[in-house]
Amino acid sequence: MKTFHNPHHALHQGREEMFRGRMVPCHEVPARLDFVLAELQRRPLGSVEIPTVDNATLDAAIARVHSPRYTGFLAGAWDEWVAMDPANAQRDALPSVWPLGNRHAFRTDVLPANFAARLGLFSFDSGSPLTAGTWAAARGGAACALAAVQAVLGGERSAFALSRPPGHHAGPDFFGGYCFLNNSAIAAQALRDGGKQRVAVLDVDYHHGNGTQTIFYERDDVLTVSIHGDPSTEYPFFLGHADERGAGAGEGFNLNLPLPRGTGFATWRAALSTALEAVAAFRPEALVVPMGLDTFEGDPISGFTLASADYFAVGEALASAGLPTVFVFEGGYAVDAVGTNAVNLLEGFQRAAA
Ligand SMILES: [Zn+2]
Repeated sequence: MKTFHNPHHALHQGREEMFRGRMVPCHEVPARLDFVLAELQRRPLGSVEIPTVDNATLDAAIARVHSPRYTGFLAGAWDEWVAMDPANAQRDALPSVWPLGNRHAFRTDVLPANFAARLGLFSFDSGSPLTAGTWAAARGGAACALAAVQAVLGGERSAFALSRPPGHHAGPDFFGGYCFLNNSAIAAQALRDGGKQRVAVLDVDYHHGNGTQTIFYERDDVLTVSIHGDPSTEYPFFLGHADERGAGAGEGFNLNLPLPRGTGFATWRAALSTALEAVAAFRPEALVVPMGLDTFEGDPISGFTLASADYFAVGEALASAGLPTVFVFEGGYAVDAVGTNAVNLLEGFQRAAA
């Protein structure tokens, strides 16, 4: 299995996030990716490469998923932030006001001139600091997803996009949950554009893949399935319930499997079987796995209790789908263990797929 990693990822390094009423050091740190890379060197699964995707191809793939209004904002946001006050260079931009767009309480069609207003318009939480290197890092992560897709379209059984920052909370025109560009959605769309007629996304991160669900919610060519902490108590709270089944042409092509905080591996694994049955019934030609490792028992911000050894079985189960598979690195905040857990999952897949 080829791995594509993002050489620009450390350009995105938030200082602090707003977490339950306090400013705390960011959970989503560059060391996460470094631990996975180190484990891949210790237990190689295949080549580890830097993506060689040209800018025009990358921009086109990003534009298939994200609105130009949004990416235009992200591309220039840091320069605007610093231009407002040179002292801003020493602090990250965090949103603090939001338009509640779907309640008709505020307008979202008019682009505000005020930077703080636009920062709120294009986001949904104050946990995702925007820094000097966020745009370059996010683009580098998307390039990993695209390179992994190209490997699979070229005939590889699987490939791993070791991207950072993560992506599955980012929607067509908003960031949040540490995510700016939805790497998994970009991968799924690129597989479609590369000729795969139906693509399934099976999100195994602890948190609901709200951005991915939103992006494909009205489509019947991309099935989105997510196993996650029940949003009535778990982030991102406002999406991810079992009754969200898709809309319009996409009716029946979204499946949420929320589980209560505290769920252990036996129950989680049964949900994975249900998810894989839905994937098989869809008869996809490729699979994207937004691969969060925050289902781990030691994760500081999550609530399932999977053990490190369980991830081998997760990988084996995913291999049983028998599909060309793109893995995209998402969450996982028990930094010391994230490398072991990620490589356990991928090794389990590779062994079973061989
Ligand atoms: Zn997560």
